[in-house]
Order: sequence, then C-alpha cells, then structure tokens
Amino acid sequence: MPFRTRYTGLINKYRDRLPVHDDTRLISLGEGNTPLIRLNNIPGLIGKDVDIYVKYEGLNPTGSFKDRGMTLAVTKAVEEGSRAIICASTGNTSASAAAYAARAGITAFVLIPDGKIALGKLAQAMMHGAVVIQIKGNFDAGMQLVKEVAEHAPVTIVNSINPFRLQGQKTAAFEIMDELESAPDYHCLPVGNAGNITAHWMGYCEYREHGIVNNAPVMVGYQANGSAPFLRGKMVDNPETVATAIRIGHPQSWEKAWKVKDESGGWFDECSDDEILAAQKMLAQNEGVFCEPASATSLAGALRDIKSGKIPQGSKIVCTLTGHGLKDPDTAIKQCSGSMITVDAELEAVKHAILDNMSE
Ligand SMILES: *Cc1c(COP(=O)(O)O)cnc(C)c1O
Repeated sequence: MPFRTRYTGLINKYRDRLPVHDDTRLISLGEGNTPLIRLNNIPGLIGKDVDIYVKYEGLNPTGSFKDRGMTLAVTKAVEEGSRAIICASTGNTSASAAAYAARAGITAFVLIPDGKIALGKLAQAMMHGAVVIQIKGNFDAGMQLVKEVAEHAPVTIVNSINPFRLQGQKTAAFEIMDELESAPDYHCLPVGNAGNITAHWMGYCEYREHGIVNNAPVMVGYQANGSAPFLRGKMVDNPETVATAIRIGHPQSWEKAWKVKDESGGWFDECSDDEILAAQKMLAQNEGVFCEPASATSLAGALRDIKSGKIPQGSKIVCTLTGHGLKDPDTAIKQCSGSMITVDAELEAVKHAILDNMSE
C-alpha cells in the first residue's frame, strides 16, 4: 500500500468548490476532516430507534468550527493585501482569528465581552498574540463597534458577515455527505449569529444541485431560552445563558436563517440552561465526547424532539458539536463538584474508595 496523501486542510480538499486560485497562498492549520461519531449508547438510554451522529468540530485546530471559516477568511484577507483582521467574539472567533493571524504573520484585533468569555478561549487569544480589547458590553455591542471601526481603519472584518467565513464553513456539510454517501434526514445545530446553520445549508444545497446527492436534511436550530431571538421573532437586548458561545441577541444572519428554516422545512426551538448542561454531561459520560455547553444545545434539542416523536424513529440525525469541552473548564467542573473523593494517602483508604464505587 502506498502512503496516504497528507491532509493539508479543507481549502485544498475542496479547492474546486471554494473561491481560491491555483497560486493563492493558503493560510491553513489542517482544519476540517473532523470525526463524525455515531452515538452507540444514548439512543438506547432514551429508548428510541434512531441513528444519531455527532460531528465533533471541537477537534479543529483551535477547538471550534470557526477554523473552517477562518482559514478562508484569512487566506483571502492576505491575498487582498490586508495586514490586520478584526472581530467581535463570544470567544471562539477570537481564538481562531488570533491563531490564523499568527500563522499568516498579520495582526488580529479582537473585541470580547467583559468577563463573559470562557477561560480557554481567552487563553488562546492572548497566547496567539492577538490585541485583546475587552469592552464593557456584550457581543452585540462589540459587533456594532467592529462594523463602525472597520469603515475607518485598514482592517478586515472576520466575523461571519465576511462572506468567506460561510464559504469555508459549508465544507462541514460536504464532509458529512462524503461519509454518509447522502445527506442525513435531520441536521441539528446550536444557533447564535446563525452563520453556521446558513453555511451548512449552502453546503447541502450545493451537493444536491450538482447531483452528488439527491436529498437534503431538515435543518433544526436550537437556541438557549435566555438568548432566543428566533423564538421571540425579534431581537433580544440582554441575552443571558450559560452557553456563552450563543449568548447573542442580535443575530447577524437573521434573514438568511429564516430562509434556511423555510427552504428545508425545518424549525427553531429553545432549551433551558439546565437541559443544555444535562445533555453536555450525558454525552461526556455515556459516549466519551466532551463538547462545550453551547454545542450541547444541538443534542439537548434533538433528544427532546426525538422523545416527543417530532423527529420520528428510524431517522438519521446529525448534531453539530461546535466546540471542545476544554474551552470552558469552569462550567464543567462546577457541574461535577461532589464527584471527587478525598482520602488519606494509604492503601486501605484507596482500596475502600475503589470497592465502594465499583459499578455492577
Ligand atoms: C460560534 C459558535 C456557535 C454559534 O454559531 P453561529 O454561526 O453564530 O450561529 C455555537 N457554538 C460554538 C461553540 C461557537 O463557537
């Protein structure tokens, strides 16, 4: 057997479906190619006969799907001669922008909400050398400021309003179809700015239009109930949720996402913070997959709709796990306090701790 061709990132893989030229200098960290993991234990736990897969986007280079869009956005910014990029971020966009800017040798400016960003994401932005500007306001305020400042300064916006972001992110749908050899029946995602649900739908439609598959999924978007403009039918001014990555009240892809819902025959729904955290823990403890709270929103919502029959038995479902659980260690540890046993450093004590806790 010859050696396998080295994987060099999603732009190279899907080059003919992306806006790059033969001589474009690619800014890549080997993003994409994330595992599509079939859940073996959870369907039995809820007593339903469904085929659920999770697309584990937390295994991208900076730990979230944002890298799919960022590789293309930064590649194009550099191609166009830009020396600096800027974004507002709930955390993962700033981590990704910081890393790809470092890779490209340009500057990243990131605006983050004061105090509401998960620790791992802040560490990444700082470590990769971004200029971190903490604002005394939320994501929506930061987004507004970024749009205004970019009109006056020579910086490229790399939020999902940058069209190259969605082009890069559509490749997640390509990967799913390449593996399943068709589109799933349902695709469930957490929704913040709604760029990702829009990008997935672009990817599904593109393969269908080109006859690579002949179906497309029903697209289902779940929000946290304290931060659910798509459920309220209007913008929300003071969004709150433990799932900080989707703590967004003024989604930038508002109209696009309503179109996705209509064209795919899908729906939006909302989950409580308790449901989100329960799904995060269920997945970690029953399947060995650790995602961040926002990501678990897709599974929390899907499980509820499967239990109620809205998503029927026999369906093939993909849930996107947008980011890695290690991004937000504080929330994880808080949920598991009490599950640590402290004993004396002696054999008898450790032996008892083991025997007392053996499962059947
Ligand atoms: C950015 C992000 C989301 C939300 O994606 P949108 O495209 O803004 O809807 C969800 N989960 C995580 C972990 C994210 O980083």
